[in-house]
Amino acid sequence: MVDRLARHQRELEVEVERATKELSRAYEELKETEKFRSEFFSNITHDLKTPITAIKEAVDLVVRKGRGKDPHVEIISKNTEKLSKMISDLLDCARLESGQLELMKEEGNLVGAVEEAVFMATSLAWTKGVTLSFERGEEYLPVVFDGDRISQVLVNLLGNAIKFSPKGGQVVVRLTREDRWVVVSVEDHGPGIPDEEWDKVFQKFYRGGRGVSREGIGLGLAICKGIVEAHGGKIWISRPTHRGIVFSFSLPRGLKEVEGGRDGYSHSGG
Ligand code: ADP
Repeated sequence: MVDRLARHQRELEVEVERATKELSRAYEELKETEKFRSEFFSNITHDLKTPITAIKEAVDLVVRKGRGKDPHVEIISKNTEKLSKMISDLLDCARLESGQLELMKEEGNLVGAVEEAVFMATSLAWTKGVTLSFERGEEYLPVVFDGDRISQVLVNLLGNAIKFSPKGGQVVVRLTREDRWVVVSVEDHGPGIPDEEWDKVFQKFYRGGRGVSREGIGLGLAICKGIVEAHGGKIWISRPTHRGIVFSFSLPRGLKEVEGGRDGYSHSGG
């Protein structure tokens, strides 16, 4: 009996060792494939960017020469913009996935950055007949952040909020301080997002269910999540008291301002 058990034990050990080797080989293969996929994705997207930039420059030149009113030029211009946005979204996604998104972080006033993004979105809101307001709460909130990347997050959230708002709707941007975090939220009166979709919203290529505009490739929010998380923050959605949706994100407050500047604290968002 003892002999049989010992033999069985040895056989099991050999089997476990064989299975472990197999698993490790499969894992290495997977890593190689993933690396190839990521590099391929990044290279091809990069190669697409060059001709699109050339087309954009040529269109700009035609517009500057006073032929921008030609409907064909308008079609080329609009579609080049769309294509260019898709390509830079794909490129950002590839960078985020391969950990190559470099942040140029500096301590600055987040209130100013939000104000600028709101200002930039004003004409879009005006065109759509949407009222855009900013409840800043404070004048100065120092945060260590990459201005261009946080502006990209804001432009995307504001763009969506305006796009999904009905004519005459309201979009409110708020900036609040929560313990060691600064929270920015964008609230709209649009159709909202059904509960069963909430856990998919920040996934790549999510484009909502039926009845919602499916224009775009659904990378904007995934990129926002990647950028915010690269800053050590969080992004989440919540329901306002009325119809619509609130997108919020948090960023750690500037280290100089937070007494002690300790790491590893938690907050209520998300
Ligand atoms: P894209 O990059 O194509 O614009 P996003 O990732 O920004 O896509 O958004 C993905 C999807 O999330 C949208 O297609 C839409 O279904 C949903 N969505 C985003 N923002 C809102 C909003 N403010 N109200 C309702 N649905 C939204």
